[in-house]
Amino acid sequence: MTELTKLDLLDALRESRPDRLQALYGRADAVRKENVGDAVHLRGLIEVSSHCVRQCMYCGLRQGNRDLPRYRMAREEIEECARQAVRLGYGTVVMQAGEDDGLTAEWIAEIVRWIKSETALAVTLSLGERSQAELRMWRSAGADRYLLRFETSDKNLFHAIHPDRYANGPDRLTLLKQLKDLGYEAGGGVMVGIPGQSFESLANDIFTFRALDLDMIGIGPYIAHAATPLGTGALRPAIDPFEQVPNSEEMVYKMIALTRIVCPTANIPSTTALATINKVDGRKLGLKAGANVVMPNLTPVKYRSMYEIYPAKACIEESATDCNQCLRGQIHSIGRVAGQGPGGKGAMETVARVMADAPPHLVQLQR
Ligand code: SAM
Ligand code: SF4
Repeated sequence: MTELTKLDLLDALRESRPDRLQALYGRADAVRKENVGDAVHLRGLIEVSSHCVRQCMYCGLRQGNRDLPRYRMAREEIEECARQAVRLGYGTVVMQAGEDDGLTAEWIAEIVRWIKSETALAVTLSLGERSQAELRMWRSAGADRYLLRFETSDKNLFHAIHPDRYANGPDRLTLLKQLKDLGYEAGGGVMVGIPGQSFESLANDIFTFRALDLDMIGIGPYIAHAATPLGTGALRPAIDPFEQVPNSEEMVYKMIALTRIVCPTANIPSTTALATINKVDGRKLGLKAGANVVMPNLTPVKYRSMYEIYPAKACIEESATDCNQCLRGQIHSIGRVAGQGPGGKGAMETVARVMADAPPHLVQLQR
């Protein structure tokens, strides 16, 4: 297959003719089938804490949002979510949270050790920019993957919307390289349609995914939140209107499709943010444009409204069981199958290895 040049990417990102777009999605779907197969992996999401010390200009969890009630799950609640993941047949749990200093390194490590010793689940962490020592400790405890979106490869825009916590700390691109060096499967990603984001920077995002050789790539629409400076318009990064990327679902499908073509073996989720802007078909259309992962929510329903990254989030009132049934139904309705096992990069090998390592009663549970 011929390599896509920057010009190809820019043309495709600006394309709006329906027949050309269907051809792009069809090509990405074929690349997906050939490289990662028909399995759609289910990663059970546990939103562990809504506390956050950061001031990201786009996110409803930012510390400056004083109106948001905050919670931090108890260890027993997180372990019950992991048991539920096993009962529902998932291969992975994702523990995600704001950058919360109350989630101490040792506490997270103990939970990771518990999940790894009691289940055959893969453990993904998404806890923000944490220190090297913490990331190393969690990897030693058995964490398999780490998700840290770099949000945009445009450095000026990133700094405008994501104030540093410490002067001279590593940026997210450096952290992603460090995560790989520590032996994590590393996941990055971007929001699409951030005010100030240009088409050219989106093309650069795709080349950045490839340069970092990411194992997972999350792409979702930017959704304005009224309790944030970017959402109210108090922060308005300057840009020529012709260059501004829209935060439309079509833009997200184009990004998913191009990313699949450029990074054929990556795990790419069809995100909850996409399901939020098209509640009926968003997830399925993402899967048909090149995605191969979905993230059913395991968080206890009583906490869901407090993890308000953006408004009107999809599926916040559905129980874990309903979410599981709904997503499996959507997967089958488009002729795909739910993945078995952890479904890491190079999925077949990983399944075989994890199953071989797991105690027999856990293999039984996993099936
Ligand atoms: N605190 C961790 C971090 O920042 O990586 C993990 C949680 S954070 C809520 C997860 C992701 O939510 C971010 O990487 C960002 O891409 C996404 N997000 C935050 N605000 C958003 C918004 N307004 N619209 C769409 N996605 C958003
Ligand atoms: Fe906190 Fe992550 Fe939201 Fe930034 S994106 S405010 S780090 S939860």
